Amino acid sequence: MTTIEKLEILSDAAKYDVSCSTSGSDRQGGSGLGSTLPSGICHAWASDGRCISLLKILLTNYCIYDCSYCINKRSNDVERVAFTVDEVVDLTINFYRRNYIEGLFLSSGILNTEDNTQEMLLNIAKKLRLEKGFNGYIHMKAIPGASKELIRETGKYVDRMSVNIELPSENSLKFLAPEKNRDTIIKPMKYIGEEYEYVLEEKKMKKKIDNFMPAGQTTQMIIGASPDSDKQILKLSENLYEKMALKRVYYSAYIPVNTDNKLPSLITSPPLLREHRLYQADWLLRFYGFKADEILTDSKPFLDDKFDPKVSWAINHLDQFPVEITTASLEMLLRVPGIGTQSAWRIVSYRNNSILDFESLKKMGIVLKRAKFFITVKGKYLNSFFLDRELLEKVLTEKKDTQLKLY
Ligand code: SF4
Repeated sequence: MTTIEKLEILSDAAKYDVSCSTSGSDRQGGSGLGSTLPSGICHAWASDGRCISLLKILLTNYCIYDCSYCINKRSNDVERVAFTVDEVVDLTINFYRRNYIEGLFLSSGILNTEDNTQEMLLNIAKKLRLEKGFNGYIHMKAIPGASKELIRETGKYVDRMSVNIELPSENSLKFLAPEKNRDTIIKPMKYIGEEYEYVLEEKKMKKKIDNFMPAGQTTQMIIGASPDSDKQILKLSENLYEKMALKRVYYSAYIPVNTDNKLPSLITSPPLLREHRLYQADWLLRFYGFKADEILTDSKPFLDDKFDPKVSWAINHLDQFPVEITTASLEMLLRVPGIGTQSAWRIVSYRNNSILDFESLKKMGIVLKRAKFFITVKGKYLNSFFLDRELLEKVLTEKKDTQLKLY
């Protein structure tokens, strides 16, 4: 099989991995170097917000495991291929030189052993950096179960690593991927997180130390393959952010690919709205000072379809509103639906020097469409009215066609 034929298969197999925030593969023109863009090139967002093009592929779709949700599971009858180290290096360099890509995202099934697979990934990274002088972005997998030394060594040559946690709970893992062990997934995440923070600290003190994946680590969780609640998912994400220095948790609506009575049927639509709501809630954890336990409770463990999680929280905590904009703390401003992090900071700095009114809020660019129901300026609402819960729910229910616009 030619490298380009392998590329067709291994770029297609990589599309289920969302842990690099890709916007999906760009298949314009299909395959081959003669087309507008070759297979496997996707757009992703770097940590600084830049949109970058990545070659997104698997090293191999062979796998010794049989996770029931995965297209590449051992028992599936799919065409199997594996790149060699040199093939991945050459593809990356060729595409980079032609300006097709700015980096490489490389994931993999487990070929023979975990260590063997990790070693191949390491050799690719090493060869790209040391022999080919490749300065582009590299995101690689840390393979659960591979040795610490190999993972540590890989981290020296790549920008970012990810260990996919895949399922939100140990029970789901036992049910859908019984050969896997929660510990072998969590351990490398913990180790990578500790090493990342250690290197950051050492660098702050200007100590000479090897690089270690400067863009940090991410992971992905499959949503909807198992019965885990949004609360379980958010609690886990919160833990990962707090304890393992995760940069991002990506949520991937489960796309049924296998017939299995433990899984949703093949005609089930991927839960895209749920995925979208989880991203919104994740945003609240990372930037708005919310805790998972505030967003969801044991009696209401799933996010609302009708409202984004911030609106939902506000409607369920009307006793904390209206927020008086001229005196409210930054923390409380951040809880007002419609007021984002930038707007909250703008309000705080403006009112230190000037008198705040609704006009000045508008001039600052603050969109009052939703916020006006939850704020007062010097004790007055914008339209001199207060809406009770029932009316608020009517006014703030998102129309179905606008629910997915944000992402
Ligand atoms: S280990 Fe990864 S590639 Fe292999 S079957 Fe499980 S999810 Fe798929």
